[in-house]
Amino acid sequence: MPDRLGGERALVDSLVADHAEVWDLAGRIPVEVPRELGAAGLLCAQVPAAFGGLGFTSAENGEFTAHVGSRCSSLRSVMTSQGMAAWTVQRLGDRHQRESLLAELTSGRLAAVGFSEPDAGSDLSGMRTEIRREGDTVVVDGHKVWMTAACYADLLVVIGRFDGGAAAVVVPASAPGVQVSKVADPLGCRAAGHADVTFERVRLPVSSVLGGVGQSLPLLLTTALAYGRFSVAWGCVGILRACLAATATHAAHRTQSGIPLARHQLVGRHLAELLVDERTAALACERASRCWDRGSPDMVIETVLAKHVSARNAARGAASAVQVLASAGAQDGHVVARAYRDAKLMEIIEGSNEICQLLLAEHAVANAA
Ligand code: FAD
Repeated sequence: MPDRLGGERALVDSLVADHAEVWDLAGRIPVEVPRELGAAGLLCAQVPAAFGGLGFTSAENGEFTAHVGSRCSSLRSVMTSQGMAAWTVQRLGDRHQRESLLAELTSGRLAAVGFSEPDAGSDLSGMRTEIRREGDTVVVDGHKVWMTAACYADLLVVIGRFDGGAAAVVVPASAPGVQVSKVADPLGCRAAGHADVTFERVRLPVSSVLGGVGQSLPLLLTTALAYGRFSVAWGCVGILRACLAATATHAAHRTQSGIPLARHQLVGRHLAELLVDERTAALACERASRCWDRGSPDMVIETVLAKHVSARNAARGAASAVQVLASAGAQDGHVVARAYRDAKLMEIIEGSNEICQLLLAEHAVANAA
């Protein structure tokens, strides 16, 4: 990691300290923690300095995301939502929206992004949320599910039908007609503030629509999801690093049959595979980040690939970590038990394993044609 991130990592370390397990069990992060990181610009560190951000390169932002992910996947999930909201504003907002909203998102206000609906999961073309003009206002009606960080958010970036196409609208969480209901007992990332959110005749100024006009739904989704996938991918590298450290330390110190676990060859194989999983995930993420930093058209597909490799490796690596720790890691409150639950969810979100595989297969065929 470049030296320039030493101070930022130290801030995360001091805020998370040994609280991640407590937050996980309580299902809540004290909101002051994301607010402090947000006020330092660190929840969306890629925002350019011209808009009040830190202007991190994608590689720097990725390494920082991995560091947060190695400490607490719930906090990293909050960061992913904020980064996705900021990226969507940066790409789709007009000049005024970029200036005002990015200033908010880099100074402690928190955001969540809503695509998924009860009948629109992997196939978001089934989305029903409606954003319609009424005079000089727009009215939002709909139901979003599983919005990460919505329990903490001040602003909700909502994707819905608009003007025969689609749009992203920025809704204050406090607006009349918005109801946020926390998802009970998620399998993992338990403190990430997932919520189902309903919007009932929520009236907003027309200037709340990013860019002011309808866009194509695929364009909107590709834009927002690209950042989400990038962030989840690097977050999974963090999960793998935490698992590798815990597993290697345990295997070096615990003795069975008169020798350290690590010297039992079948346990050594778990360690080797965990190292390979961490390294290959990091390489895929670094490659995707180079595409972001160069503005390469391959950025979207390389990010899908990085997300797929990292999520799959993290789920497999966390399972190996629990296997090696055995009873020592088989309880809530242990870093590898938390990683095991958190990593599984990374294979579902921002394009499940299967959806990523479909996109990668499509790319392979298009390139062969
Ligand atoms: P379904 O779409 O019903 O899929 C079920 C299974 O079928 C999956 O394995 C899927 O891969 C497979 N499948 C579906 N279609 C196909 C196909 N065509 N080919 C092959 N396999 C297929 N949503 C948001 O909008 N914002 C958020 O911040 C957010 N955060 C989330 C956080 C967590 C922890 C979780 C669990 C979900 C979150 N979601 C969020 C929702 C998430 O995006 C959806 O869960 C995801 O898109 C999958 O949709 P689904 O759960 O409805 O599963």
